[in-house]
Amino acid sequence: MTVRDVRAAYDVSREELAALLADEPAYRARQVWDGLHRRALRPAEMTELPLELRARLEAQLPAALGEAARRTADGGDTVKWLWDLRDGRRVETVLMAYSDRVTVCVSTQAGCAMACAFCATGQMGFDRHLTTGEIVEQVVAAVRAARPRRVSNVVFMGMGEPLANYDRTWAAVERIHGDLGVSARRLTISTVGLVPGIRRLADEALPVNLAVSLHAANDVLRDRLVPMNRRYPLGVLAEACAAYVAATGRRLSIEWALIDGTNDRPSDMAELARFARPLGAHVNLIPLNPTPGYPVRGSSPQRVLEAREELERSGVNATVRSTRGVEIDAACGQLAAPGRL
Ligand code: SAH
Repeated sequence: MTVRDVRAAYDVSREELAALLADEPAYRARQVWDGLHRRALRPAEMTELPLELRARLEAQLPAALGEAARRTADGGDTVKWLWDLRDGRRVETVLMAYSDRVTVCVSTQAGCAMACAFCATGQMGFDRHLTTGEIVEQVVAAVRAARPRRVSNVVFMGMGEPLANYDRTWAAVERIHGDLGVSARRLTISTVGLVPGIRRLADEALPVNLAVSLHAANDVLRDRLVPMNRRYPLGVLAEACAAYVAATGRRLSIEWALIDGTNDRPSDMAELARFARPLGAHVNLIPLNPTPGYPVRGSSPQRVLEAREELERSGVNATVRSTRGVEIDAACGQLAAPGRL
């Protein structure tokens, strides 16, 4: 048996866990499930279990993520992990503590096929989908590191396109909500705008937040910045977003990385306002973070503030996303899971 024949702890279902514990008293399965999820423990740490059972479960329920490196910034309030997956691939996770919330940003794929030019993950190309367990375990790691604070928010904004890995991502959402106890209103899925995925999300029972990485509100510019726009142009994207808002009653967010001279002009803000206003969307402006493969600069701090004011004057709610972890390459668009850190 190779290591890959053994499923990682959070890839095992309740039923499979019960089967693993078939020779134990009936309450054990619930005890271990609770230990893994609600208490975020490794089997070896479940001191209520007999020692021999702990050792057996430690081998039968291995961790999916090995810590290859961990870096901190912002006085310890931002933590970035580089994980080794069991097949040697690497992904990153970022934990951000604020005064009013603790947010973890998780990856859903190793690499990404969306090829957005300004994004470090897009620059590296697609490797593979993460499993549900690999996604859930990132949150568990953050829960452990955040103590004594609680992880209040989970954003699917790390490496990868969550809606291109729909089933595993959605199963992770259900696990994070149902078993780790994070409220659906504090879960946010971010997408480049995969319309079929947005339509599926609208039909789910759990109303999570939807964020769309727009970056341009005319098709000529968006085709260039976000290649997936050629498949799902702005008109069909807007319709899917409207359907999502109508079905869930959740507010839509629009993410817009401000790129100097490219999408930060007053005319760009006017186009953005025309797109956002009918959807009642909130705009998150992100000053472009530097990445190795994209020479263009982010907008100046002055221009970022003006852009926000222009949107507000057009009747669109806009905030500037506080940039965390730029110096450790942990900020939006910088996750690339390098061989080194
Ligand atoms: N694929 C999904 C999930 C990744 S979220 C999506 O694109 O939404 C990562 C966010 O960071 C996206 O909004 C993305 O557009 C943004 N981003 C990518 N590169 C960036 C950069 N260099 N500076 C600032 N934001 C960036």
